[in-house]
Amino acid sequence: MNTKEVMLDKFTRKEVRESLETGRIKAAIIPVGSTEQHLEHLPLCHDLASCTYVAREVALRLHPQVVVAVPMNIGISEHHMMHKGTLSAKPGSFLAILYDACESLIRHGIENILILNGHGGNVAPINASINQFRRRFPDINLHHCSYWNFTPRDLVEKLTVTKSVPGHAQEYETAFALALFPDEVRIDDMDDEDSKFGTAEMGKALVEGTIDRLTKFVADIIAGKNPSEITGL
Ligand SMILES: [Zn+2]
Repeated sequence: MNTKEVMLDKFTRKEVRESLETGRIKAAIIPVGSTEQHLEHLPLCHDLASCTYVAREVALRLHPQVVVAVPMNIGISEHHMMHKGTLSAKPGSFLAILYDACESLIRHGIENILILNGHGGNVAPINASINQFRRRFPDINLHHCSYWNFTPRDLVEKLTVTKSVPGHAQEYETAFALALFPDEVRIDDMDDEDSKFGTAEMGKALVEGTIDRLTKFVADIIAGKNPSEITGL
Protein backbone atom coordinates (compact mmCIF):
# COMPACT_ATOMS: atom_id res chain seq x y z
CA MET A 1 0.00 0.00 0.00
CA ASN A 2 1.05 3.56 -0.63
CA THR A 3 2.46 4.53 2.78
CA LYS A 4 0.27 7.65 2.87
CA GLU A 5 -2.93 6.20 1.46
CA VAL A 6 -6.05 7.91 2.81
CA MET A 7 -8.78 6.79 0.39
CA LEU A 8 -10.72 4.05 2.15
CA ASP A 9 -11.51 2.08 -0.99
CA LYS A 10 -7.80 1.77 -1.80
CA PHE A 11 -7.18 -0.17 1.40
CA THR A 12 -7.45 -3.96 1.49
CA ARG A 13 -9.64 -5.46 4.20
CA LYS A 14 -6.46 -6.45 6.09
CA GLU A 15 -5.18 -2.90 5.98
CA VAL A 16 -8.48 -1.43 7.17
CA ARG A 17 -8.79 -4.02 9.93
CA GLU A 18 -5.26 -3.47 11.20
CA SER A 19 -5.59 0.32 11.01
CA LEU A 20 -8.77 0.17 13.08
CA GLU A 21 -7.50 -2.42 15.56
CA THR A 22 -4.39 -0.40 16.32
CA GLY A 23 -6.42 2.78 16.67
CA ARG A 24 -4.64 4.58 13.85
CA ILE A 25 -7.89 5.64 12.15
CA LYS A 26 -9.77 8.12 14.30
CA ALA A 27 -12.08 9.84 11.83
CA ALA A 28 -13.64 9.58 8.39
CA ILE A 29 -14.67 12.24 5.91
CA ILE A 30 -17.48 11.51 3.44
CA PRO A 31 -17.31 13.89 0.46
CA VAL A 32 -20.69 14.57 -1.12
CA GLY A 33 -21.18 16.46 -4.36
CA SER A 34 -23.20 16.42 -7.53
CA THR A 35 -23.12 15.60 -11.20
CA GLU A 36 -24.61 18.68 -12.75
CA GLN A 37 -24.04 21.48 -15.20
CA HIS A 38 -21.39 24.04 -14.32
CA LEU A 39 -22.06 26.58 -17.04
CA GLU A 40 -20.33 26.19 -20.40
CA HIS A 41 -16.74 25.93 -19.19
CA LEU A 42 -16.51 23.53 -16.20
CA PRO A 43 -17.19 19.78 -16.19
CA LEU A 44 -20.19 18.22 -14.48
CA CYS A 45 -17.93 16.72 -11.81
CA HIS A 46 -16.71 20.04 -10.44
CA ASP A 47 -18.43 19.96 -7.04
CA LEU A 48 -17.29 16.49 -6.12
CA ALA A 49 -13.80 16.92 -7.59
CA SER A 50 -13.19 20.06 -5.49
CA CYS A 51 -14.72 18.60 -2.36
CA THR A 52 -12.79 15.34 -2.64
CA TYR A 53 -9.54 17.20 -3.29
CA VAL A 54 -10.02 19.21 -0.08
CA ALA A 55 -11.01 16.09 1.90
CA ARG A 56 -7.98 14.17 0.67
CA GLU A 57 -5.55 16.98 1.48
CA VAL A 58 -6.98 17.32 5.00
CA ALA A 59 -6.66 13.55 5.49
CA LEU A 60 -3.07 13.58 4.21
CA ARG A 61 -2.14 16.34 6.65
CA LEU A 62 -3.61 14.33 9.51
CA HIS A 63 -2.36 10.96 8.27
CA PRO A 64 -2.92 8.22 9.43
CA GLN A 65 -5.79 9.40 11.63
CA VAL A 66 -8.28 10.28 8.87
CA VAL A 67 -9.66 8.28 5.95
CA VAL A 68 -11.78 9.57 3.10
CA ALA A 69 -14.81 7.36 2.53
CA VAL A 70 -16.17 6.75 -0.96
CA PRO A 71 -17.35 10.08 -2.41
CA MET A 72 -21.03 10.41 -3.31
CA ASN A 73 -21.18 11.84 -6.80
CA ILE A 74 -24.94 12.07 -7.31
CA GLY A 75 -26.51 14.87 -5.28
CA ILE A 76 -29.83 16.67 -5.15
CA SER A 77 -29.93 18.64 -8.39
CA GLU A 78 -33.54 18.76 -9.51
CA HIS A 79 -33.06 22.50 -10.11
CA HIS A 80 -30.44 21.73 -12.79
CA MET A 81 -32.32 18.98 -14.62
CA MET A 82 -33.17 21.35 -17.47
CA HIS A 83 -29.51 21.03 -18.45
CA LYS A 84 -28.58 17.80 -20.19
CA GLY A 85 -26.27 15.46 -18.33
CA THR A 86 -27.36 16.32 -14.79
CA LEU A 87 -27.92 13.26 -12.60
CA SER A 88 -30.20 14.03 -9.66
CA ALA A 89 -31.14 11.95 -6.64
CA LYS A 90 -34.40 12.54 -4.80
CA PRO A 91 -33.72 13.76 -1.24
CA GLY A 92 -34.89 10.47 0.28
CA SER A 93 -32.61 8.37 -1.94
CA PHE A 94 -29.62 10.62 -1.34
CA LEU A 95 -30.08 10.77 2.43
CA ALA A 96 -30.67 7.02 2.67
CA ILE A 97 -27.31 6.23 1.08
CA LEU A 98 -25.53 8.97 3.00
CA TYR A 99 -26.73 7.82 6.41
CA ASP A 100 -26.22 4.16 5.50
CA ALA A 101 -22.60 5.05 4.77
CA CYS A 102 -22.35 6.83 8.15
CA GLU A 103 -23.89 3.84 9.90
CA SER A 104 -21.47 1.47 8.17
CA LEU A 105 -18.50 3.51 9.40
CA ILE A 106 -19.94 3.56 12.91
CA ARG A 107 -20.41 -0.21 12.89
CA HIS A 108 -16.70 -0.54 12.09
CA GLY A 109 -15.84 1.55 15.12
CA ILE A 110 -15.29 5.01 13.63
CA GLU A 111 -16.69 7.53 16.08
CA ASN A 112 -15.81 10.82 14.37
CA ILE A 113 -17.42 11.50 10.99
CA LEU A 114 -17.46 14.62 8.86
CA ILE A 115 -19.88 14.89 5.94
CA LEU A 116 -18.02 17.34 3.70
CA ASN A 117 -20.34 18.85 1.14
CA GLY A 118 -19.50 20.43 -2.20
CA HIS A 119 -22.96 21.18 -3.64
CA GLY A 120 -25.50 23.76 -2.49
CA GLY A 121 -28.55 21.59 -3.22
CA ASN A 122 -27.49 19.04 -0.59
CA VAL A 123 -27.23 21.47 2.32
CA ALA A 124 -30.85 21.93 3.40
CA PRO A 125 -31.83 18.22 3.21
CA ILE A 126 -28.79 17.19 5.29
CA ASN A 127 -29.34 19.94 7.85
CA ALA A 128 -33.01 18.97 8.14
CA SER A 129 -32.27 15.32 8.85
CA ILE A 130 -28.89 15.08 10.60
CA ASN A 131 -30.22 15.52 14.12
CA GLN A 132 -32.52 12.55 13.72
CA PHE A 133 -29.50 10.43 12.81
CA ARG A 134 -27.54 11.86 15.75
CA ARG A 135 -30.33 10.89 18.13
CA ARG A 136 -29.95 7.28 17.00
CA PHE A 137 -26.18 7.40 17.66
CA PRO A 138 -25.76 9.89 20.52
CA ASP A 139 -22.16 8.85 21.25
CA ILE A 140 -20.99 9.54 17.70
CA ASN A 141 -19.40 12.83 16.78
CA LEU A 142 -21.06 13.60 13.44
CA HIS A 143 -20.48 16.90 11.67
CA HIS A 144 -21.71 18.37 8.41
CA CYS A 145 -20.29 21.37 6.58
CA SER A 146 -19.59 22.63 3.08
CA TYR A 147 -15.93 23.10 2.23
CA TRP A 148 -16.47 26.73 1.23
CA ASN A 149 -17.60 27.50 4.81
CA PHE A 150 -13.93 27.14 5.74
CA THR A 151 -12.56 29.54 3.13
CA PRO A 152 -11.30 32.48 5.22
CA ARG A 153 -13.58 35.45 4.58
CA ASP A 154 -10.67 37.90 4.68
CA LEU A 155 -9.06 36.05 1.77
CA VAL A 156 -12.29 36.24 -0.22
CA GLU A 157 -12.55 39.96 0.49
CA LYS A 158 -8.91 40.56 -0.43
CA LEU A 159 -8.61 38.40 -3.53
CA THR A 160 -11.94 38.19 -5.31
CA VAL A 161 -13.86 40.74 -7.32
CA THR A 162 -17.38 39.42 -6.80
CA LYS A 163 -16.88 38.35 -3.13
CA SER A 164 -19.35 35.57 -3.89
CA VAL A 165 -18.84 32.13 -2.31
CA PRO A 166 -19.38 29.59 -3.71
CA GLY A 167 -21.53 30.95 -6.58
CA HIS A 168 -22.12 28.48 -9.37
CA ALA A 169 -19.17 27.94 -11.71
CA GLN A 170 -18.41 31.62 -11.31
CA GLU A 171 -15.38 33.37 -9.87
CA TYR A 172 -14.80 31.20 -6.78
CA GLU A 173 -15.41 27.80 -8.40
CA THR A 174 -13.58 28.78 -11.57
CA ALA A 175 -10.57 29.87 -9.50
CA PHE A 176 -10.65 26.51 -7.70
CA ALA A 177 -10.80 24.68 -11.03
CA LEU A 178 -7.96 26.71 -12.55
CA ALA A 179 -5.81 25.95 -9.49
CA LEU A 180 -6.65 22.26 -9.16
CA PHE A 181 -7.71 20.98 -12.60
CA PRO A 182 -6.57 23.54 -15.20
CA ASP A 183 -6.82 21.05 -18.05
CA GLU A 184 -10.53 20.61 -17.31
CA VAL A 185 -11.42 24.29 -17.78
CA ARG A 186 -12.71 25.13 -21.27
CA ILE A 187 -11.40 28.68 -21.37
CA ASP A 188 -12.69 29.25 -24.91
CA ASP A 189 -16.24 28.36 -23.86
CA MET A 190 -16.29 30.64 -20.80
CA ASP A 191 -19.09 33.09 -21.47
CA ASP A 192 -20.04 34.18 -17.95
CA GLU A 193 -18.57 37.55 -17.00
CA ASP A 194 -18.19 36.71 -13.29
CA SER A 195 -16.39 33.46 -14.12
CA LYS A 196 -13.72 35.40 -15.98
CA PHE A 197 -12.52 37.04 -12.76
CA GLY A 198 -11.27 33.67 -11.45
CA THR A 199 -7.53 33.00 -11.73
CA ALA A 200 -5.28 30.07 -10.85
CA GLU A 201 -3.29 32.22 -8.42
CA MET A 202 -6.47 33.29 -6.62
CA GLY A 203 -7.63 29.68 -6.59
CA LYS A 204 -4.39 28.41 -5.03
CA ALA A 205 -4.69 30.88 -2.16
CA LEU A 206 -8.39 30.07 -1.60
CA VAL A 207 -7.70 26.31 -1.69
CA GLU A 208 -4.79 26.57 0.75
CA GLY A 209 -6.75 28.78 3.16
CA THR A 210 -9.68 26.38 3.06
CA ILE A 211 -7.54 23.30 3.69
CA ASP A 212 -5.67 24.97 6.56
CA ARG A 213 -8.83 25.89 8.44
CA LEU A 214 -10.58 22.61 7.77
CA THR A 215 -7.53 20.62 8.91
CA LYS A 216 -7.65 22.43 12.24
CA PHE A 217 -11.39 21.75 12.53
CA VAL A 218 -10.91 18.01 11.92
CA ALA A 219 -7.91 17.87 14.28
CA ASP A 220 -10.14 19.43 16.96
CA ILE A 221 -12.84 16.84 16.25
CA ILE A 222 -10.31 14.07 16.81
CA ALA A 223 -9.03 15.74 19.98
CA GLY A 224 -12.57 15.85 21.39
CA LYS A 225 -12.70 19.66 21.28
CA ASN A 226 -15.55 19.74 18.76
CA PRO A 227 -18.41 17.57 20.03
CA SER A 228 -21.40 17.66 17.69
CA GLU A 229 -24.60 18.88 19.30
CA ILE A 230 -28.22 18.06 18.67
CA THR A 231 -29.64 21.51 18.15
CA GLY A 232 -33.09 20.76 16.79
CA LEU A 233 -35.41 18.02 15.66
ZN1 LIG B 1 -20.60 23.84 -8.08
